[in-house]
Amino acid sequence: MALHLSATTLTTYTRCPYAYALEKVAKVPAYLKSISPEMHTGTALHAVLQSMVNEPELTPEKAQAKLEQSFNWNNYQDPQQAQAQFAIAQQRLQGWLETPYGWGAGEVISVEKMLRSPEVEGLILWGKPDMVRVAEDNILEVVDHKSGRYVPSLKEQKASWQAIVYRLLVEIRWPEFSDYRISFSYLATQSVLPIVYTPSEVESMWQRILQIAERIGKARASVTLDIALDEAFPARPGSHCRYCNTRMACSFYDGQEDYAATAH
Ligand code: SF4
Repeated sequence: MALHLSATTLTTYTRCPYAYALEKVAKVPAYLKSISPEMHTGTALHAVLQSMVNEPELTPEKAQAKLEQSFNWNNYQDPQQAQAQFAIAQQRLQGWLETPYGWGAGEVISVEKMLRSPEVEGLILWGKPDMVRVAEDNILEVVDHKSGRYVPSLKEQKASWQAIVYRLLVEIRWPEFSDYRISFSYLATQSVLPIVYTPSEVESMWQRILQIAERIGKARASVTLDIALDEAFPARPGSHCRYCNTRMACSFYDGQEDYAATAH
């Protein structure tokens, strides 16, 4: 069976192979997973932004009302935390409504559409960009909204698996465009990071992903031969552990916030 990889699984695996294994091989149950409050906020915001594209008659006031409906209050145990997260979501939406990047300009050809590569050497790459539209000069642009506070540098974002995977997938799905751009729209700062790649960068990204897929395939096969999970997929504890959604199931996580001294 083909190995399916997305930007999220590539990010998880390259940060900590054991985290990938807990999620995809051991398949830890949902009650052992930690989902950050920011993720719930982002989900609600994305639902509203998707509605804005699909329902052009939606006014800013109605969009704010829709946010309240999309916001899953039951995800928060603490009502004060829920209120605080909802206030953040409202601010982010308001900021975007004032400068709605990607909204109303250029023909939108896909919204939250699943894109998949054909199977290549046993690998299927997939992803779901927020929006794909035709921009100026026959450029195809992916617009992806980010609701978190952190805004990476252009270099960091260019090296992110999300930008790389979107770039590869849009050219496979729509090969007729003269160039491709992946634009990340940061709702917290109302800034946009546009990423472009050269053809040789695109080729080397594919090769890198194929190598990772081969490593994962070999590690998965060794687990079926009774090699221990943490031997086939070594743990790499680090500062990223605090964001790891399988940390409750991980025996290498000691709850410390700062792993800087022991990372990698
Ligand atoms: S908590 Fe840290 S070491 Fe454990 S699986 Fe997650 S990232 Fe890896």
